[in-house]
Amino acid sequence: MASSIAPPAAGTTTPAPLPLKAIAPWALFAGVLMLVLLYFVGAEQGATSLLSGSDVHEWLHDGRHLLGFPCH
Ligand SMILES: [Zn+2]
Repeated sequence: MASSIAPPAAGTTTPAPLPLKAIAPWALFAGVLMLVLLYFVGAEQGATSLLSGSDVHEWLHDGRHLLGFPCH
């Protein structure tokens, strides 16, 4: 059975493979950033609130409703 992937044409370059060790710290950083964002959108209210007042909650209120988090 012939392979369906054509060999690279002459003169073209193939991209270097991306090693997992090189992107792992950035993936971890992006994951932590997403978790922080998820906390502020979804849980920065009431008993789980880290910041006093409701400013953060009001700023993220539309996103909270858009993503379906329980609110009011
Ligand atoms: Zn609401």
